[in-house]
Order: sequence, then C-alpha cells, then structure tokens
Amino acid sequence: MSNPGPGITFQETMQGGFMLGMTDPEAGAEAGKRISSELAMHASITIDDLEQFIADPEHGGHIVGAIDFPPLGIAIPAQRGVFKLFSPAGAPHTKYMVYELAFEVGNRPYYLAGRKVVRHDAPFDLWSDTTTLYTTLHEGSDKDGPIVGAGVLGLNPVALMKLLTTVRVINTSNPLDKTKTVTRFGQFFSGQLVDSYLRTPATTTPLPTAPNAPAPNTSEHWDVIIIGSGFGGAVTACRLAQAGQRVLVLERGRRWDYNRLPRSASDDGWWWDQQQPEKSNGWLDLRLFNKVGVAQGAAVGGGSQIYANISVEAPPEAFASGWPEGIDYNTLKPYYDRVGEFMDITPVPANQLPERTRLMRDAATAIGEEERFRQVGLAVSFDPGRAWDGRQPLEKSQSSTFINRHGVQQGTCYHCGMCDIGCDVKAKNTLDLNYLAVAEQHGCEIRPLHLVSHIEPHNGGYAVHFDRLEGGRRVAGAAYAERVVVSAGSLGSTELLLRCRDQYGTLPKLSSQLGSGWCTNGDFLTPAFYTDREPLPSRGPTITSVIDFLDGSRGGQRFWVQDGGIPDLLDGWLQHYVKRSPHHALDQMTQKWVRQQLQEQAPLKNMMPWFAQGMDKPDGKFRLRKRWWLFGPRELQLDWDVSNSTALINAIVRTHGELSAATGGVAMVPPSWTMAKYLITPHPLGGCAMADSPQHGVVNRKGEVYGHPRLYVIDGAIFPTAMGVNPSRTIASLAEFCSEQIIREA
Ligand SMILES: Cc1cc2nc3c(=O)[nH]c(=O)nc-3n(C[C@H](O)[C@H](O)[C@H](O)COP(=O)(O)OP(=O)(O)OC[C@H]3O[C@@H](n4cnc5c(N)ncnc54)[C@H](O)[C@@H]3O)c2cc1C
Ligand code: SF4
Repeated sequence: MSNPGPGITFQETMQGGFMLGMTDPEAGAEAGKRISSELAMHASITIDDLEQFIADPEHGGHIVGAIDFPPLGIAIPAQRGVFKLFSPAGAPHTKYMVYELAFEVGNRPYYLAGRKVVRHDAPFDLWSDTTTLYTTLHEGSDKDGPIVGAGVLGLNPVALMKLLTTVRVINTSNPLDKTKTVTRFGQFFSGQLVDSYLRTPATTTPLPTAPNAPAPNTSEHWDVIIIGSGFGGAVTACRLAQAGQRVLVLERGRRWDYNRLPRSASDDGWWWDQQQPEKSNGWLDLRLFNKVGVAQGAAVGGGSQIYANISVEAPPEAFASGWPEGIDYNTLKPYYDRVGEFMDITPVPANQLPERTRLMRDAATAIGEEERFRQVGLAVSFDPGRAWDGRQPLEKSQSSTFINRHGVQQGTCYHCGMCDIGCDVKAKNTLDLNYLAVAEQHGCEIRPLHLVSHIEPHNGGYAVHFDRLEGGRRVAGAAYAERVVVSAGSLGSTELLLRCRDQYGTLPKLSSQLGSGWCTNGDFLTPAFYTDREPLPSRGPTITSVIDFLDGSRGGQRFWVQDGGIPDLLDGWLQHYVKRSPHHALDQMTQKWVRQQLQEQAPLKNMMPWFAQGMDKPDGKFRLRKRWWLFGPRELQLDWDVSNSTALINAIVRTHGELSAATGGVAMVPPSWTMAKYLITPHPLGGCAMADSPQHGVVNRKGEVYGHPRLYVIDGAIFPTAMGVNPSRTIASLAEFCSEQIIREA
C-alpha cells in the first residue's frame, strides 16, 4: 500500500444552546439559551490525503473529539465519528458539512449528529450557513437511536481565528509541500463556496428531510396540560414529564430574561393588569379587594420569581384540623425533604449574616426567648468561601457562576437585597432553574403569555381554552389533554373554576364549596425605627431567620416573626433619570457620586421591617359577581373580614412592639391596620380546599376535582387551613405527593 500524500489536521470548537428532551434543534437552542444550557463540541479533524479527499465525492475525513455538556459531563471523550465537507445533500444546489461524534457516559452510548447546510437561499447567508451546526443527540451508538436532545452550535469569529492557528500539514516534512497543501485546501474550500454562493442563484427548493429530523409537532393533543408554572405547576410538570408523559404548561406571565429584569420606573414588567393583560403583563398581580389586598406572581416560575426565598416545613400542628384523612406532617415529610434537595435549600452561611439576623437574635434574647430564634432555609445559592459582613459595597462581580445539580448555570448571592424584585445574577434558586428546567429537559413544553379562560370536557379528556397575549392583542386558541392540572395559584385556580362553573357552564358538577375556606396566612408587617442601630433592610437576602411562637405560647395564637428586607429601588430609578436627562455626561458623574453615597448610606438604614405569618381563620369566600350589581363583566370578589382573626393580628402587633422596644427601636404600626383594619398578603391560601368529600371541599387527597375525573388542582388553592409559615415548600411537597398518585394511575 502506497504512503498517503500530504494531508491536513485542524481543531474546531462549536458551541451553543442545547436542551435534553427537545427534538428540534432550533427549539432546543432557544430553550437552552433561556436557561444557559449549552453544549460544546471540540472536534479534532484529520484529512489523511488531501488529493484523495478532494477526489472523493463525499469529501470524508476522520473526526474524534470531546463533548462538554454539564447534564452529561465535561470533556467526555469521543473516539469515533463521521466528518464530511461539502458532501451532496440530495437536493439541488445543497451540500452538507457533517460532524458526528459517538461517546459514552457511564456505559451508556450516545451519538451527537450535526450538520451545516450549505446552500444559497438568502442574501448574505454564507457566514451563517458555514458556521451553524444543527445538532441532535441520540441514545445509542448511531443516529438511528431516539433523539434525546437538540440544539444549534455555532462558530464565532474568535473561534474561527483559533481554528486557523490549529491547521497543520501531515505526511510531509517538506516546507514547500506544506505550503502547497494549505493553499490547495484553501482553493478547494473557497471553490466550493464560490460554487454554492456566487455561481448559483438563490434557491427556493425545499430542503431534503434528514433521516434524523424530528416530525413537526403540529398536534395540540397532550397527555397532560398544566395551567400555571408556580410551585404546584412546576413540580407537577417536572415529575410527570420525567415519568414519560407529554406535558404542556400554559402560563399567563412572561419568561424573564435575567439581564432585563424590571428595575426602573419606565420598565413595563412590573404590573399584571387583570382587565387588560394583553397590554400590561408584568410579574406582580396585586388585587385590592374590599378588606384585603393580595400580591401574587405572574411569570414562568410563578411566585418564585418575586418571592423572598424562604423554604420551610410547616409545623405538625398546622395539619391538626381541616385536612383530609392521611394528609399530615408525617405523610409530607419525605416530600419536604425531596423539595429541599431539589431546590438546594440552605441557610445564610455564618460568615455572611446581614445585620437584621443579628438584630433578630438580640431581640429574642432581650425578651427572654432566645431559644425561639433560628435561621431558616433559603432557596438561594451562596459561596461559603466568600465572607461578607453586611457593610461591604455591593458589586455584581462578587457573584461567581456555577452549574447547579440540574445542569443549569447560576450565580452566587452578592447580598444586594433585591430578592423580591428578581435576582439578576440567578442566585435565587427559582423554579425555572430547577423543576421547570428538568421538566423541559424531559420534553415538557412551556408556553408563556398563554392566559387560560376556561376548561371543558372533551372526548373523555378536556379542552383548555386560552388567549395568547401578543403584540397588545389576545389571540384565542385551544389545546386538548387526557388530564388537566390547574395550578394557577389560590386566586387563579379558584377564579378559573368559578368561571367554568358559573360563567361558561362547562364544569357544572364542581362542589358548592368552591371559593370557600380562603385565608391570608396571617401576614403582617410592622416597620420599627432605630436611632442607635442600623438594621440595613436593603442588604442581604430579604428574610433570613425567625422567632417561633407557633406553639401558641402567646395567648393561644400561633405565629412566627421574621426579619424583613426592602429592595433598594433608588439605583434603578436614578439610572432611568440619567438616561433621559439632556445633561447625560454630567448626570453620569452625579449618578456615580450618589451611588457611592447610597452604598455607604443605605436607604432606610435605620428601619427594621418586622414580618410575621400566623394561623388565621380560613373563612374568606370568593364569588363571581357583576361589576355594577346587575350589570358589567363578572369579576372575582372576596367576602372576607378580619374579625375572626383580629386576636392573631393583635398578638403579632404586640410582639413586634415588644421586640422593637427591647432593642431600642420604635414600632410604627401601619395606619392601614390601626385605622382601616386593612391587610395585604403575599400568601393567599385556599379556595379549592382538599377534603374527604365534596360536601367539605373541592378536591380529594390526590388533588382530583370531585365530579370531574382526571381534572386536578395542585397549588396553594387546595389548602383547607393556614400554615402559619411561608407556604411554598408545603405547596411544592403536596405537588410531589399528588403527582406521585397521578403517575401511579396514568
Ligand atoms: C413578594 C412575595 C414574597 C413571597 N415570599 C415567600 C417566601 O419567602 N417563601 C414562601 O414560601 N412563599 C413566599 N411567597 C408566597 C409564594 O410565592 C406563594 O405561596 C407561591 O408562589 C404559591 O404557589 P402556587 O403554585 O400556589 O401559585 P403561584 O406560584 O402563584 O403560581 C401560579 C401561576 O399560575 C399562573 N396563572 C394564574 N392564572 C392563570 C391562567 N388563567 N392561565 C395561565 N396561567 C395562570 C400565574 O401567572 C402563576 O405563574 C411570597 C409571595 C410574594 C408575592
Ligand atoms: S440578595 Fe441579591 S444576589 Fe442574593 S439572592 Fe437576593 S437578589 Fe440575589
């Protein structure tokens, strides 16, 4: 056998958005980019004999390399594959560049199949065609295996420059031959491009379907549709998708880009307008009823996007009455643990405690209740190696990035105190970074800006009718599934089912208990002001610790007290002002100076917002009523007043006052309470209570709606009583429990 002529080697790295569970490369790339899920292919290519390669119509070479894809591993070696450069595609004027690599994870074989499509079908498409690799990941040793992931990898100009530095000539040591070989390869490459893009008119013939191309998903029939993507919806979507169900999530709110969170007055992302959501669909839905205001999240990830990250178990006493047989603390305990692990719950490390935590401990000690003080678990990622004393200047650069246990990139907390208005470094372990990310990795589709209007029985399953909110308009649509899970939150689920029963008449068998048993979870805030102490409420995660009176030791009322935080919005508002100012440069200097002052003189630094939650009476009732008695659209209205829970709120107010006085502060009970007995709660619970019979509630212990099989409610709406503590962990744990029952029956 004669020796091969001079050949060429080079190394090429391509990377881009990639998602497990997706089959379409473009959809996979888009989903991957949203959660920073990227795959990198490091290819090492060898063309043994350049002349033979050019003569071969397929233009094949050898390829080995490595794959970086955090869910499977980093630097996973790939020892074989397929490489072709400008091979015929079976369609006029179309060629492929093929990059395929086989690799193993554990003993499991995978095959990554990518191709660039070289064809002139749009002006100036040469660069994008030759640098865009449409990629699918297959289980098994070749691309006949089922697709388990997809994405689009790219070669950017820097990576191209790097590639050029790796080009080597092989099989000759003669410098002249080396130069000739590089020149010949360059001529071949540019000749192919000239053929494809200059000598060929732009083509419109359809692209041939590759053997591994997924069938387009035009079907609107799903195994399960989940309405809402908060704690109930995200956990259920994840577990059902992992169990192999085809899951669609319809979410009324937006999917947030962490680089563009609402910060300044001009941002349109703040408010959800219940009357005109197509015009204003920000992430905070604040509803002001007669005697109580309710704040809820409206976004992919639901309340987790704007919550204070506290993730705690409810005490066993919280399940003492009202709950169906067999739902108690012991039943939920394994699920509490599962949620804690999945969401990486941890307290603030001892070397990063904010001032407020110290004040809490001092206050508990000062009133002789030190043993009731403790730190609580947060859904926040910290870097334990980075000490913070509560006063250092806040810089985003103090946050370091890491890949979480679900393969999603996050950052660590830099104590900016903005938790309740979203975390721009992704240190909050929000649901889109864990449960929803894993759901998507298993093929679940999440559609933001889809507002569900009603549900109706259809062919043994259900039709879910929605309005797509796009470009200031509503566009009606519907999807169908065998099972539907309503996870729209306490108000959202209750209102949706009330409309189905009383407005659309599509679910007539819903229990007469629908709307009843609602409570505020005893939320209350008392600001206290200090003259010789600086609690610095805008520094550190929003809540860090509790003083626990849930045992009823204070006049039989069960509640706990927390340190509260307040986001510092001044900086965002300042930037907004500077951007709009005609004296931009001067104002930038002023802004820098004011910022420095703010860093040193944190706003409201002498204020301590004492928070509390408690077990109030679940005696609120929702109804749909016409806006103007007999006329106007039907609106959700709430009959609730605090009279049966006044003793609880008074006990909280007294305790807040005592804790403030014992540490040198003065509590200022808000006039909204002293004068109007008006409360605002971010923890609405109930409306579709779980119970042993339809005479007492709306859903059974699996979350299944009485009278309508395979329709479920799984979220804060199914709580028959208050918890007395922040409820998200209990909602998520109940969702873990209920999804297990659904999977068993499916
Ligand atoms: C400012 C703030 C701070 C909080 N801090 C904490 C805390 O630290 N710890 C804690 O445990 N809890 C906290 N909470 C409460 C917590 O966020 C909620 O208890 C929790 O999110 C409720 O979960 P859920 O699944 O019932 O509903 P949600 O998380 O509210 O999810 C419901 C989802 O359904 C969507 N939806 C509603 N209607 C429709 C419809 N018709 N069509 C489509 N989608 C719909 C909503 O947009 C939303 O995304 C806080 C809440 C707020 C507002
Ligand atoms: S304090 Fe700032 S960095 Fe830390 S979790 Fe809250 S928002 Fe994120």
